[in-house]
Amino acid sequence: MGYPSTSVFFTIILLASCIIIELDLCFSTVPSSSSLKALRLDGHFTFENNEFAARDFGNRYHFHPLAVLHPKSVADIAATIKHVWQMGPGSDLTITARGHGHSLQGQSQSQQGIIISMESLGRHELRVHTAGDSPFVDVCAGELWITVLHETLKHGLAPKSWTDYLHITVGGTLSNAGISGQAFRHGPQISNVHQLEVVTGKGEVVNCSEEQNADLFHGVLGGLGQFGIITKARISLEPAPKMVKWIRVLYSDFFAFTRDQEKLISAEKTFDYIEGMVIKNRKGLLNNWRVSFDPQDPVQSKEFVSEGRTLYCLEVTKTFNPENSDTITQEIEGMLSQLSYIPSTLFMSEVSYVEFLDRVHASEIKLREKGLWDLPHPWLNLLIPRSKIQSFASHVFGNILTDTNNGPVLIYPVNKSKWDNRTSAVLPEEDVFYQVAFLYHANPTSNGTDGLEHILTQNQKILDFCEAAHLGVKQYLPHYVTQEQWRAHFGPRRWEAFVQRKSAYDPLSILAPGHRIFHKEISSS
Ligand code: FAD
Repeated sequence: MGYPSTSVFFTIILLASCIIIELDLCFSTVPSSSSLKALRLDGHFTFENNEFAARDFGNRYHFHPLAVLHPKSVADIAATIKHVWQMGPGSDLTITARGHGHSLQGQSQSQQGIIISMESLGRHELRVHTAGDSPFVDVCAGELWITVLHETLKHGLAPKSWTDYLHITVGGTLSNAGISGQAFRHGPQISNVHQLEVVTGKGEVVNCSEEQNADLFHGVLGGLGQFGIITKARISLEPAPKMVKWIRVLYSDFFAFTRDQEKLISAEKTFDYIEGMVIKNRKGLLNNWRVSFDPQDPVQSKEFVSEGRTLYCLEVTKTFNPENSDTITQEIEGMLSQLSYIPSTLFMSEVSYVEFLDRVHASEIKLREKGLWDLPHPWLNLLIPRSKIQSFASHVFGNILTDTNNGPVLIYPVNKSKWDNRTSAVLPEEDVFYQVAFLYHANPTSNGTDGLEHILTQNQKILDFCEAAHLGVKQYLPHYVTQEQWRAHFGPRRWEAFVQRKSAYDPLSILAPGHRIFHKEISSS
């Protein structure tokens, strides 16, 4: 055996120095913006003027990032995550995807971490596939749902399941669930996705679906951004109707209201959208409705008094194309005749499908004009088992809620059979459960019932009651501050599965720290 040749010797030296550089990178404890600047990207980082990334719709939490990545390709996202992954546990850098930043408690923020501005990914990738019986659209996850709607409508198609507000991103709602009045029939948005492209916490780009990498696919849906960043989604479409008949009626009896809602969500022939609202102590309610709805009994409806009362509004729609308007009117009359609302409170309107789906944006414009859109939003969203909704209502709407003047309180049932229990979404135990959403804006300087402190105290009273009465309620868009609380939210079996997925796909806990579920462990050795 002879000595190694000079070239082999230099190769060994080179390899050794590479290992030293790699180790140095691994144990660096300083979050270095210079190492980010050195990354070769199609897009770019910004290190200043990133205040927007320390804000969200909730407007109560403000965590300032080290940097914002404006990616121009999926490779940019993968390279950034891989870089942080390779820095190892010696670095405290974290990464959060920011969709449209409409979270409520800092979930799309990252203190001194990296924010990935998903909206920069661009829309040129949006492709509608019309062939066959099951049309679909491939979209970038940073796309707003309103854009998806407009693009798919060009082909006479639209997604099946919606949120009430469309100026939020595909990735943002798929990370939660995406629930609205169509969910009783089609399930939430996470039940209407065929395939995803995901960048994991190790920087790997993975395609996943029911057939391929199914565990990641199910984990990411409702996964609160914990297992990977969704970069693309394939969303199921259906033929889009042109018009909507939009109907509101009132009840004073909560039992009759929920009995009718439940009848409607289980009926074969029913409405296409079913929601509801709690209305307490509202002045001139029907006069407000008159701006966009027509009373079916103008004389009687004028006499109706809403002030000082607790009322329940059933809101439903039937979609149609102009040529079947008459048939639809008859169908609606047939369905309404089986309900027990207060007859003088029947109001109807006819609008385009887009106008109906984008209805909250119309309210946004008005609220912005009044300076109410950018106020703090101490929202509380609960999922309540059907068998407990009466006791929830009698205590919460009867004793805790004083009025509904600071924003709507939504209430409607959905069928659990339309949800896939392999996803990460956490649901109550029963086959039917109610979504109850207290969607308030708060005046930060007021000491009254519209003040932030008052509303936060009210929310806490509601949560305390649910816990004390063992109602089996789950939070939607959940917010907790300790891992104990998260563990209780998931329950032992689902928590174990959630932790297992975290260690498989984001073992260093780099992703989405704003939920405070996992904390990146920093080690210096
Ligand atoms: P962001 O706030 O930017 O992000 C939310 C979370 O998802 C963060 O943890 C973020 O890190 C993560 N995330 C974002 N993008 C990705 C991605 N591509 N991959 C992985 N993780 C990602 N929800 C309903 O279900 N039904 C409704 O009817 C409804 N109505 C709403 C009305 C209004 C006015 C508002 C403000 C919100 C409403 N929501 C509703 C809640 C909404 O679905 C969530 O707040 C959603 O997260 C907002 O999307 P976003 O794009 O702003 O997400």
